[in-house]
This record gives sequence, structure tokens and C-alpha cells, in this order.
Amino acid sequence: ETGSNPTSLQDISGAPGVRGQKVTTIQKDGLISFMQSIILNTQLDSKEPFYVLDLGTVVSHIDQWARALPSVRPFYAVKCNPGPALLGAMAALGSGFDCASRAEIESVLGLGVSPDRIIFANPCKPEAHIKYAASVGVNLTTFDSVDEVEKIRKWHPKCDLLIRIKALDDSGARCPLGPKYGALPEEVEPLLRAARAAGLTVSGVSFHIGSGATHSSAYRGAIGAAKSVFQAAARLGLPEMRVLNIGGGFTAGQPFEEAASNVREALQAHFPNAQGWLSLIAEPGRFFVESAFTLAANVIGKRVRGELREYWINDGIYGSMNCLLYDHATLTCVPLACSSKRANPTCEGAITYSSTVFGPTCDALDTVLTGHRLPELQVNDWLLFPNMGAYTMAAGSNFNGFNTSAILTYLAYSNPS
Ligand code: PLP
Repeated sequence: ETGSNPTSLQDISGAPGVRGQKVTTIQKDGLISFMQSIILNTQLDSKEPFYVLDLGTVVSHIDQWARALPSVRPFYAVKCNPGPALLGAMAALGSGFDCASRAEIESVLGLGVSPDRIIFANPCKPEAHIKYAASVGVNLTTFDSVDEVEKIRKWHPKCDLLIRIKALDDSGARCPLGPKYGALPEEVEPLLRAARAAGLTVSGVSFHIGSGATHSSAYRGAIGAAKSVFQAAARLGLPEMRVLNIGGGFTAGQPFEEAASNVREALQAHFPNAQGWLSLIAEPGRFFVESAFTLAANVIGKRVRGELREYWINDGIYGSMNCLLYDHATLTCVPLACSSKRANPTCEGAITYSSTVFGPTCDALDTVLTGHRLPELQVNDWLLFPNMGAYTMAAGSNFNGFNTSAILTYLAYSNPS
């Protein structure tokens, strides 16, 4: 289905969250000058941090997905980045949605997306959220415990279930999920029996090999383990399973191509002739959005200590850069010396100094970069941080009164072709 999706700006410009907003068409290499123009055109006293979302990158990743995994329908993981323009664009591009909570379901339904395009893919849900899902017709969820079966029986007995199994090798992931979620092999049959006893339908299997996975061979192991669960269900005489959810864990570029090739081979090995009876779905987050967002933060302070340069910027570890802690991210940045209209704003060829970049709060933990080579910057210059779309603003706080959710997002569109 994704193959027939709209793939041009025209197709997504009417989407909720995008409609009515200015979308600037830029060249593939024109992002820095676009950000510079935003900085120069913004009122002098507004030096707040801001994001640019390049919708062209999102479109291009949707196309890459459809080319590499045409039989696997993506359900974008809202938790990764719930920005309204992004969600609207994903909806217009035909994606389904993986929601973790009532609020995420509400925001997706608010786009006019029908409930059958949503999977409530949180294996342990508050009862009130299950009740809400029942009331709006979100009828597919995951589970990995007997207690969850009981809650779903009570509040949403018409819900189809996917049994979430542990991907046994998620050791190569930036954020392994195995320590928290997934049934062990010996737990599978008791869980299937519990669901049957509760009168619930287990329609398939899901797994997640960990976010930011680096061992893409883990998809092979997990797809093989999923096949064993399909066989166990058949042995128990349960209705035939018909959904396989391969989760997330994809990173754009070469890692995605490798992962997709592992997935294709494992599907061919374990689920040949799947066409017609097996629905293949996935819950990618990072893949679609990581490189689509670039953050600009303003230099609000400076201290020189011998050869060391120390800078303070107005976003940090309690804001967008929480990804340093929670997502084990490594950040990089490009300087944009706009404070004094310099001829060479990106400072190419300039002498660099070992620099520390602090966030704006009064906590020493709020340190964004250390030992980073930067040219001499002044207060009111800017730093641009690429690849800031995944697990950044979604988990930022208001600590010290620096409000992550107030950060503006400007929309751009670089032609993906
Ligand atoms: N699905 C579930 C259940 C998750 O917990 C996550 C991330 O934590 C995702 C999907 C998205 O994963 P990723 O961003 O690695 O694709």
C-alpha cells in the first residue's frame, strides 16, 4: 500500500499540522542557509531555540521503506517524536501509528486517522487507557503477562492481541528493551492458554530488537522465534495467527538497508508464501524522523579559561538534549556565527579551540558537549545540531523554566529525488 502513497509536497501540504503553515522549499544542501535566514529575519530579541523539520527527508524515508520492505506496513511510533506537523505528514503519507497511551491515541485520532490504523503497542497499559481504546475502537494491542490478559478481558474483550516476545539478542542496541518487555520462550504457551481461557483472540506475534539496533542479524533470530510461536499456537489449536509485527530498531542509511535485507531473508526462510494470509507490520520511529529535524540553539553565555572555551546555549540536557541520557546519543554541531553578520558564518577554516557547551539550567549535569573543537564564538552566535528528530523534544522537561514544548518548528521541504 505504501507504494501508492503521495510523495510530493503538494500531497502533504493539506495535512493537519501542516495546513496553514509556511513550508519553504529548499535545496538538498540548503538547510544551513535556510536556518540562517530564519535567524536573520527573526526579531532581534527572539533568540529562542528552534527546530527545522525537513518534510522532504520524511517523504524520502517513506519511499525507502516502501522500496526495501514493500510487504511490511509501517506504524510510526508516535513516542519517538509527536510533533503535530510530522504526525499530519505521516498520516497523509499513509502510515499507520503505534501509540503507547491514551494521549497518543487521541492525538492521532485528532488527525482524522481511523482507529484501524492504530496499534496500541504498549504491553502494559493503565486500565483507564484500555477502556478508552475500547471506546474509540482501537482494537489491536500487545501483551506479555497474564495480568495484562485479565485487564484486557475486563475492559476491552473485543481487542485482538499480539503476544510480545523477547528478542533474545538485543545486545547491539543503543536502548535494549529486552530487560523490560517480551515473553520468554517458556512463558509463551501459558500466555496463549491464559488468553484463550479469557476468551481473547491472539492474532499474532510482535517483538522489538531494541532501539538504535546495530546487530541487524537480531531480526533473523526474532523472526525465527516468532515462527515458533505461530507453531505453538497451532499445536494448542488456537485460531490461526495472521499478524507478524517486527517492531522498530531501524536507523536510516546503510544500517536500514542491511536490516531490511536480514528481514527479507528471514521472512523468506520462516514465512514463505506469506502473501494472502499474513499481515506484516512494523513500528519504526527513529528511521523516519531522526535526520529530518535540525535544532538551532543560541549562545547565551561564554567564558574563556586559557585555551578552553566554555559556552552556554539555551537548550540542554533537560530539554532536547535529554537524548544524551535517555537515548545514549552522541551529538555533533555546526557553528553559525550570526551575531555580527560575519562573512563566513559557518567559520570554515577558522582556528578551533577545545570547547565545552553547557545547557541553560543551573545543574552541572546539564552539559551538552565536552572537548569539542569549535571556532571562537560570541554570545548571540548559534549552534546547529543535526539529527535531532528521535527521542529529543518528546522527553524534554520544563526544568528551571526552560520549556521544551514551547520550542517552535519551522517547516522545510527539500526535494527528495
Ligand atoms: N515500538 C515500541 C513498542 C517501542 O518501545 C519503540 C521504542 O522504544 C518503538 C516501537 C520505536 O522504536 P525505534 O525508534 O527504534 O524504531
